Amino acid sequence: QINNEEEDEANLVERPPVVTIMGHVDHGKTTLLDTIRKTHVTEGEFGGITQHIGAYQVGVNGKKVTFLDTPGHEAFTAMRARGAQVTDIVIIVVAADDGVMPQTKEAVDHAKAAGVPVIVAVNKIDKPGANRDRVVSEMSELGLMPEEWGGDTIYVDVSAKFGDGVPDLLETILIVAEVENFRANPNKMATGTVIEAKLDKGRGPVTTLLVQNGTLHTGDALVVGTVFGRVRKMTDDRGRELKEALPSMPVEIIGLNDVPVAGDIFKAFDSEKKARNIAEERLNKKIAQERSSSSA
Ligand code: GDP
Repeated sequence: QINNEEEDEANLVERPPVVTIMGHVDHGKTTLLDTIRKTHVTEGEFGGITQHIGAYQVGVNGKKVTFLDTPGHEAFTAMRARGAQVTDIVIIVVAADDGVMPQTKEAVDHAKAAGVPVIVAVNKIDKPGANRDRVVSEMSELGLMPEEWGGDTIYVDVSAKFGDGVPDLLETILIVAEVENFRANPNKMATGTVIEAKLDKGRGPVTTLLVQNGTLHTGDALVVGTVFGRVRKMTDDRGRELKEALPSMPVEIIGLNDVPVAGDIFKAFDSEKKARNIAEERLNKKIAQERSSSSA
């Protein structure tokens, strides 16, 4: 488990919040993720073709926000089941012309189980049938009362399709992040979580990692479950090569000996031998367990 509990206060510095967007199918998760990426990815810097690596970072008022680009409750559940806590803030998208639906309730349950703050994005506010009050009242019944009703849930009206309210939503994320005071220690070897992994014909295993604590450098040795290797090449969500990645940064790396499991925790080491030993020990244990359970 990655936490800051044993971290000396003096070593902790602010890190960008990691945000997941959840909600019922067709309520606008993908559209919102795309709109945010398109309008904010170039703040303060130019160029670069956005590529899908399962997560991206945008600049907002001189700060950064990381979005996990995996709308899908399965991914979230799978990660949590593996003990990975990747998200700091959950945005629950509710279409204002449709109201609370079964997967909206699921999203509320996920956020509650994870114990993370929720921001409700009341989407499709541009539609003639939009009814924001209905969304607020239905969400309040699920325990997410707005501030004006004595609760502490922030509601932001948006049109993911046309962009209205999206800057407000991003500023709200920064406000919540400031209150929550998300921090990490950049001056140590990195730890974090696998967001996505696949086998590429030419490059071998390609893995998207979210650095959650410490700094990841090219050349660092890594262990992820029973997989190990070295960071041979590291790129950001725009395909730019990086030498190091700070806390809350998503990066794509190559150099692992196999495809790791999404949701697994990774740990960086200065020696590849150490990483290999840990991975091999885990592999041997796993083989021994499988043998004893198949012979039983
Ligand atoms: P997801 O299943 O939650 O990822 O939903 P999508 O982002 O795929 O959106 C579902 C449909 O709703 C698409 O046809 C979108 O164009 C449309 N949509 C999403 N956001 C808005 C919005 O703010 N206004 C309107 N009018 N349509 C939207």
